[in-house]
Amino acid sequence: MADNKVDLQECWNEAAPAIKTAVGDQDYATWFSRIFFDSHDEQTLTLRTSTKLVLDLAGKKFSDVIISKVSEIAGFTIGLKMVQKKEETKANAETPSPEKPARPADTSQSAPQTPKNRNKTNDMLNPSYTFDSFVPGDNSVFAFNACKAISENPGGNYNPCLIYGGVGLGKTHLIQAIGNHLVQNTKLRVLYITSENFINEFINSVNSRTMQQFKNKYRRVNILLIDDIQFLENKKETQAELFNTFNDLYDTGRQIVFTCDRPVSELKDISDRLRNRFERGLSVDIQPPEYETRLAILRHKCVEKNFVIDDDILSYVAQNVQTNVRDLESCLTKLVAYSDLINKEITMEVAKELLKNSIRINIDRSTTSIAKIIKSVAEFFDISPYDIKGKSKKKSIASARQIAMYLARIQTDYSTTEIGIEFGGRDHTTIMYAIDKIKSQLTVPNSETQALINQLLTVIKAGNKQ
Ligand code: ADP
Ligand code: MG
Repeated sequence: MADNKVDLQECWNEAAPAIKTAVGDQDYATWFSRIFFDSHDEQTLTLRTSTKLVLDLAGKKFSDVIISKVSEIAGFTIGLKMVQKKEETKANAETPSPEKPARPADTSQSAPQTPKNRNKTNDMLNPSYTFDSFVPGDNSVFAFNACKAISENPGGNYNPCLIYGGVGLGKTHLIQAIGNHLVQNTKLRVLYITSENFINEFINSVNSRTMQQFKNKYRRVNILLIDDIQFLENKKETQAELFNTFNDLYDTGRQIVFTCDRPVSELKDISDRLRNRFERGLSVDIQPPEYETRLAILRHKCVEKNFVIDDDILSYVAQNVQTNVRDLESCLTKLVAYSDLINKEITMEVAKELLKNSIRINIDRSTTSIAKIIKSVAEFFDISPYDIKGKSKKKSIASARQIAMYLARIQTDYSTTEIGIEFGGRDHTTIMYAIDKIKSQLTVPNSETQALINQLLTVIKAGNKQ
């Protein structure tokens, strides 16, 4: 359809002020007066320059910012090519000006949207989030394989796909790896956005009466990647718009991938019809990595970034940082920064000292609040915390365990996946089952369970004050 086509020359022209702000006046004047629009197809913008120096240096230095700013205007992630051509020929006969790179005399006539009424919240793909830089383990291999399959055959068997799991476990990395693969290897239009930005764009488009542009932007992509759909909770109107977008894309065989920090069934205030769409297709979870995977990730990151760190130190980190990959990475960064500073390899003693706080906070964060709940519930029922975490099916223990699981859910921000880990490595479905069971007991008038929960909440609150 003609109105689906985006004129990337126009987008490049419109992006000039934003590029200038991003790179600074001096670099802009030096380099961008020598870079010109050459041509474009549906997906890729080709720029040209007459000298090899500009091609090599500016190409490396500015391609990210060019892609980012032009993509923002285009509404999808563009591909960029830079070529060296001797003559600055007819395509840009106008005198190059540092203020207006290759800008035609007047674009306002032909441009249906002015920069003002476009939305500027389009997210960028991080080029380092690829399948090669992801280390799959037992915890993530299913999600990893699903994403790879999608990137080979978008709109195929796994449409839509939902990846869910706790923070820092690689959801954004994987969803973006799909995007990066497709941008590099196909001409398909990929749009990656967080649900927060989707909401912002939607609100802006309502306020600025540019709803049709908003709709067009999302309806013309081939692949829609929406990260962190949990932020759509309570956003009724955005949900309705996403529902329509979903139907439009899905009915025409286009691929949609979502991520969420919890199973969809745990999202609150999501319309049933949208929840039903999220749950259609393939749903895969990512669990926290086991020790071996944590170590493999640390080793991989060292090789990737050329860090030299003793393997004993890496295993120390892998043993002690059990929460997620983001925390592992931040410990590694700390070690490397220090080693750069002192210009020496780090010893185990230094590593322990440096990571003391991170490891303590890590352990606190991952266990304390749930551990407190388990302890309080165990004391209350006169059993041990091990019973609560253990496998005993004895009725009194099993029901105390279910109450503790319910309390952990309502009293902390942890997802059922994370709660499952604290309750002796149980699956999130077990936690969800327990929560549902307690909830149904609470609906009974004068429920005994409600009285118990009230007493336990008082005990837990008192414990928190100590
Ligand atoms: P999430 O979106 O689940 O919160 P991210 O995708 O942002 O997590 O991952 C956090 C960081 O950890 C990123 O830098 C990512 O590259 C890295 N990471 C996560 N899982 C892996 C993995 N299995 N292998 C390599 N890096 C990973
Ligand atoms: Mg993320």
